Amino acid sequence: MNKLVIVGTVAFDAIETPFGKTDKILGGAATFIGLAASHFNIDSSIVSVVGGDFPQDYLDLLSNKNIDISGIETVKDGKTFFWSGRYHNDMNSRDTLSTELNVLADFRPVVPQDYRDAEIVMLGNLHPMVQMDVLNQMSKKPKMAILDTMNFWMDNALDDLLQVIKRVDVITINDEEARQLTGEYSLVVAARKIHEMGPKYVVIKKGEHGALLFYNDNVFYAPALPLEEVFDPTGAGDTFAGGFAGYLAKTGDISFENLKNAVIYGSTLASFCVEKFGTQRMENLDNEDIRRRLLQFKNLTQFEIELT
Ligand code: AMP
Repeated sequence: MNKLVIVGTVAFDAIETPFGKTDKILGGAATFIGLAASHFNIDSSIVSVVGGDFPQDYLDLLSNKNIDISGIETVKDGKTFFWSGRYHNDMNSRDTLSTELNVLADFRPVVPQDYRDAEIVMLGNLHPMVQMDVLNQMSKKPKMAILDTMNFWMDNALDDLLQVIKRVDVITINDEEARQLTGEYSLVVAARKIHEMGPKYVVIKKGEHGALLFYNDNVFYAPALPLEEVFDPTGAGDTFAGGFAGYLAKTGDISFENLKNAVIYGSTLASFCVEKFGTQRMENLDNEDIRRRLLQFKNLTQFEIELT
């Protein structure tokens, strides 16, 4: 079994979808990643920061899922990172209404000693210099470093982001962000350009249209499961990344063939995330739910055809 270090925001989110609206609820990239990865029975640790306003119950929720939270710093007189967004009717696109960095603005991450030799590092969405700092604290080169990011950091810290992209093995990014990062409309061309920036593997997430895994000239595609209920897509990308990283930590196999399975696990977990607001569905998910959905996935994509 491999250890997994997760860095990313632990946050308050306020969300509006065509189905409803929430006040400040638990959110954050590292939260969703951690909850997804917790299904693989691995040792995982979240490195992040919250303010004195962050409820102990939320921290307990994470540690009750066996996630090490000793790397989550609490700044007593500070405020937790806050994000709010509004989804359009198609539920695939959204507007960010507000991003308040608060305690994230001066955050210096500290990776717990026991996790500095972790084989898998999941650099979830937050400031690229924080992601870089985490990489620098590892005592040996991780087997696999995976990076997720967002348009916010492309707009506000592009040079720093390019530096950290250079150092990772995998990038997971959504289609619009891949286009913004490269200036290319074609995702195939965008993936090639991102390869040139450093990462050997490029995963492009396309929301309800699934995800693409690029490795040199090879492409693998996993659709998203067609769902009856899509309530709130917030965190689906992070949940995908958590499933992907958790599966790699569990198996320890970083071949292209195994990364395909990691994409399937990521897509499967993300399909649950969207069914309820915020982290609600991910908090109450058991392994039997996951197993059943993996089977559905298999049936969705398997076919026999005779090639003449
Ligand atoms: P996703 O829907 O997977 O893109 O992720 C949504 C989550 O990312 C929310 O829970 C937010 O708290 C968090 N988030 C939003 N903006 C940022 C940002 N600029 N940096 C880090 N995390 C963010």
